[in-house]
Amino acid sequence: MFNEKTCLRCGTCLSQCPFMHLPIESAKEEISKMIETRSSRKILESCAGCSYCDIICPTGSNPSALRREIRLRRSREKGVSSITLITEEVPYNLMSIGLAFDTEEKKIGLDKYEKPPKSNEMFYFGCGIPYYFPDLTKTKLFDDLPSIGGMKYCCGGYVSSSFGEDEAKIKGLELYEKFKEVGVEKLITFCPGCDHMIKNVYPSIIEGFDIEGQTIIDYFVEKYHKGVLEIKNKINQRITFQDPCPWRKLDKKIYDGPREFLEIIGAEVVEMKHNKEKSLCCGAPVSMRNRPLAKKIAEEKMSEAEEINADAMAFICTGCLATLSRYNAERNIKSYYITELAQMVIGETPSLTIPENTRKVQRHVAKTISENPNLLVDRYIIKNGKIIHL
Ligand code: SF4
Ligand code: SF4
Repeated sequence: MFNEKTCLRCGTCLSQCPFMHLPIESAKEEISKMIETRSSRKILESCAGCSYCDIICPTGSNPSALRREIRLRRSREKGVSSITLITEEVPYNLMSIGLAFDTEEKKIGLDKYEKPPKSNEMFYFGCGIPYYFPDLTKTKLFDDLPSIGGMKYCCGGYVSSSFGEDEAKIKGLELYEKFKEVGVEKLITFCPGCDHMIKNVYPSIIEGFDIEGQTIIDYFVEKYHKGVLEIKNKINQRITFQDPCPWRKLDKKIYDGPREFLEIIGAEVVEMKHNKEKSLCCGAPVSMRNRPLAKKIAEEKMSEAEEINADAMAFICTGCLATLSRYNAERNIKSYYITELAQMVIGETPSLTIPENTRKVQRHVAKTISENPNLLVDRYIIKNGKIIHL
């Protein structure tokens, strides 16, 4: 929650915001206006929801909660497009778009992830991997446990970010019941958004929510220490890790896993100027609203990687990888999803297809929207767990 009482209206949050960089006097005026009116055109146009402002606020007043209030008010009043609703109840959304390619293969995967055998521990692929990047699952690294995912098991981040806690609670309770039906007590996660929902949001709003989350990185580190992850090939590269925005809300220990894993596999770990909880967002959240701004942010990030002579950037968020890999390639910096590095270490050859698949999807989305402009015009809200077409 935003703490209005401790806020000094000093403007630091908006003047140092990587996306807005308002001059200090404008920043002071804007924050006062936001507090008094609970509205801001600037926030709606340019805020990425990255929560960097929470880290730099000198009084710990949680300014990102204020920007969230403003966005929630807007989505509750005006609704959101079906593209952002990750549910089979709408015919076309960010995940169903993925079924335009390699459809049969993805359907087979989804069928398996939506009906996993009972197990108290599972790999939790969430939505993105089954719908966009099934190549990431083609490895013996994931043979030991059943996998779960798809829209049926979406973590519900879209409900929380667009419609707030009451709706997230309804979604979380449904999800919790589904997890209990398949006996799951621990999820090995691949998405920082899922980490945030499982480790932070649901335990704070659902009494007794007791599903444990462990990142795939910490899982690999644990397997290594137990002698199960065999290092056949060392990765002799200078690698920097792109810390994802949703991790800012979690225990800081989460930042140790990637660094330890990279050291285990033989990499030289190098840090960008902004790292860990002060990491810069990749720019993806504003790419649909403001492409030049998203490009500027990505280029800033690339300059930080270039300054430390990184050979490669490692990712846990497929969205960050999809966004930054193009800019990385322009500067001769390689991009790896963390499981692709693990594959190389055990002697497999990863497909490295995330950038190519992303380009296919972007072209498909642009074509579909130009042929069906109503997709962006039609608006929906979620109320008491029900999707309502406005
Ligand atoms: S939220 Fe923090 S940084 Fe922003 S104006 Fe208030 S005290 Fe300053
Ligand atoms: S959430 Fe990120 S983009 Fe939005 S105001 Fe805070 S720092 Fe800026």
